[in-house]
Amino acid sequence: MTITRDFAAPPVTTRLPKVGTTIFTVMSALAQQHGAVNLGQGFPDFQGDPALVDAVAAAMRAGHNQYPPMPGLMSLREAVAGKIESLHGASYDPDREITITAGATQAILTAVLALVHPGDEVIVLEPCYDSYEPALTLAGATTVRVPLDPKTLHVDMARVAAALTPRTRAIMINTPHNPSGTVWNASERSQLRDLLRGTNVLVISDEVYEHMVFDGQPHISVCGDPELAARSLLISSFGKTFHVTGWKVGYVAAPAELMAEFRKVHQFNVFTVNTPMQQGLAQYLANPAPYLDLPDFYQAKRDLFRAGLAPTKFRLLPCEGTYFQCVDYSRISEMEDDAFCRWLTEEIGVAAIPLSAFHERPTDQRIIRFCFAKQEATLQAALTRLQGL
Ligand code: PMP
Ligand code: GLN
Repeated sequence: MTITRDFAAPPVTTRLPKVGTTIFTVMSALAQQHGAVNLGQGFPDFQGDPALVDAVAAAMRAGHNQYPPMPGLMSLREAVAGKIESLHGASYDPDREITITAGATQAILTAVLALVHPGDEVIVLEPCYDSYEPALTLAGATTVRVPLDPKTLHVDMARVAAALTPRTRAIMINTPHNPSGTVWNASERSQLRDLLRGTNVLVISDEVYEHMVFDGQPHISVCGDPELAARSLLISSFGKTFHVTGWKVGYVAAPAELMAEFRKVHQFNVFTVNTPMQQGLAQYLANPAPYLDLPDFYQAKRDLFRAGLAPTKFRLLPCEGTYFQCVDYSRISEMEDDAFCRWLTEEIGVAAIPLSAFHERPTDQRIIRFCFAKQEATLQAALTRLQGL
């Protein structure tokens, strides 16, 4: 059936002139179209723990299907507070300082809309996750991009210092870092703390890959430094930690004064987040093993993937955390990264994400990102194709 429209929609002025369809959606569609192994968009191709699914199903059957409290089920907020306390020694009051969100993306947008005003400047570290700038644009803020050190892909604190102005309202940080795979060390955290001392700058800390830090390194969370924690919103996502990216449940932890403002927006943004998944997650979190085992689980995948790429012409960048591996392909092709990813998907049968997607302008670096959150057979199938290059 074709739908004909006799009347045109009124013209609109876009609020997001720079935004099209995200690269993740584009590359997943291209991968599907060409039957390519999809190492582009970041999501596991395996299932989460059946025990977690059972806990959610049982919650639905037991009738936990109406609205939960606006900030989330108390049992889940308590479980999150307990996890943070045991891992980082930081205490958040589950009543006033933790809110359950519909994933990290909603948490980031809500935090920005609640705390950033038109005309404010907000520093982001480039390359940066693609939702940050649109969130800032919707708030009427100016995005100030500070590049990571091009050699180490760690934060260049001198450049952050130079970017601070009296209009700086916040800085958005992300560790472990998507796309570079770098993780913060304690010195970077103390440098940021010292730099912001005496300012009113807030920190929005995206820690969605908090449980994917390798080689025995700790995850350096903003909450582990009390002075920094006092100005920070810590954001995470159960989607990453429990292999259920489609569930879209996450959380924010922040001092009560900041959380009060966050909740004012949250209650009119989503009001609250689906009950049975919160119920299931609260039960499942009672056992820390699934998230404590995650570094080893993903490190094995990282090592397998890196070993498979080692004999190829790709140059491997370090991967200290996340489930992403960046590679330099300049020994294989002169193509720009966007074109190279399309070619790789269409001709070689492996989808990846161009690093330009995380930059304001296309970069002349020849770097792409692979996601290794895949079954061994998927990684082997991709490696066989990539080893032919
Ligand atoms: N931040 C980063 C750095 C991410 O990689 C992602 C992954 N999609 C998100 C935020 C969003 O997480 P969620 O799916 O929970 O919205
Ligand atoms: N965060 C995921 C990635 O970096 C993608 C999430 C999305 O598709 N929006 O690949």
